[in-house]
Amino acid sequence: MKTGKKELSHSKVVFTLALLFFSFSACVGQEGNFSGLREQMVKTQLEARGIEDEQVLKAFRKVERHKFVLPRYISMAYQDSPLPIDEGQTISQPYIVAYMTEALNLEQDDKVLEIGTGSGYQAAILAEIVDSVYTIEIFENLGNKAKSLFDELGYTNIYTKIGDGYKGWPEHAPFDAIIVTCAPTDVPEPLKNQLAEGGRMVIPVGGDAVQQLVLLIKNRDKLKQKSILPVRFVPMLDTDGKKR
Ligand code: SAH
Repeated sequence: MKTGKKELSHSKVVFTLALLFFSFSACVGQEGNFSGLREQMVKTQLEARGIEDEQVLKAFRKVERHKFVLPRYISMAYQDSPLPIDEGQTISQPYIVAYMTEALNLEQDDKVLEIGTGSGYQAAILAEIVDSVYTIEIFENLGNKAKSLFDELGYTNIYTKIGDGYKGWPEHAPFDAIIVTCAPTDVPEPLKNQLAEGGRMVIPVGGDAVQQLVLLIKNRDKLKQKSILPVRFVPMLDTDGKKR
């Protein structure tokens, strides 16, 4: 009787260990698979299309995009497309994130402001490159979710805020770079004012269908601006949910 019980508990232990081993190797296998997909994304979607800033490419090799998408889209995380997130918003296409990041011409000691935290992916990419990232999201749910993810992933240089990004974040201005990931009809004045001397801003500007990605550079208090790419972003909203 005694021996029988012992054998039973032995086999239970063996079974549990085997189960643990298989789930562990499945996880490791999947992470390995993701890093392969990430490398492929960097080569075929970014390098092949002319992204060459080493810091940007390095950040894309590191940040695990599959952790920023909804569970049902995990298998599509490294595809060449935007994906839906909560509140009817989207995580941008990897190439667009890379293109905008490269256009900011970042230095390590730059202080960057992002409008539209969304999934948090763009902020994480920025946080791999610069010392501090300030990011504002208008939907509480999205902002809180991104903040938890930043904590979980160990980012201590991303500062989050729930609010209307149209107004910027005057308490921490001026910013060396500002990136806007939702589209207003015009460049918000407060953001222009919060750009540092020599600062760069990338922002999609225009109506619903297609917008122009605009690069603004501030020199001796004057702003030079040029359109650099036709793009399609979700609209910038006000606190009543209306388009800006
Ligand atoms: N950078 C994000 C892209 C998210 S899409 C990412 O990497 O996933 C743009 C985001 O801008 C949405 O989450 C939307 O809710 C947010 N948004 C729209 N209007 C805003 C505003 N006035 N202030 C701050 N965020 C805004």
